[in-house]
Amino acid sequence: MSCLFCKIVEGKIPSTAVYQDEFLYAFADVNPQAPVHVLIVPREHIASLSDANEKNRELLGHLLLAAAKIARDKDLAKGYRIVVNTGEDGGQSVEHLHLHLLGGRQLSWPPG
Ligand code: AMP
Repeated sequence: MSCLFCKIVEGKIPSTAVYQDEFLYAFADVNPQAPVHVLIVPREHIASLSDANEKNRELLGHLLLAAAKIARDKDLAKGYRIVVNTGEDGGQSVEHLHLHLLGGRQLSWPPG
């Protein structure tokens, strides 16, 4: 498997773990765009949100609830943003579904 995030999930490429469980692995983004920038990645390889289906319903909910838990653990009571870049126009650069958790500063809208 040549997928970068699969290798990170398997520990073949080093990362800074933030949280993990049976279904997901969360780690620090190597190029943070905010004081808190965590990637939340399902252990199962799903290329993008567009490739998810009904079978992934619980997993998708689990990813979001994990993001909220990590945000609480990181003291992001003032707020945060969850981003799921999807496909070329969405700016997705790694083809393994992931949530970005961004926080710790005022985030602008609309995004670029
Ligand atoms: P996206 O552009 O939405 O596909 O997000 C991919 C993210 O992965 C980017 O924010 C990168 O900074 C991040 N990234 C790429 N390689 C690594 C790595 N080895 N460890 C941690 N984060 C990474």
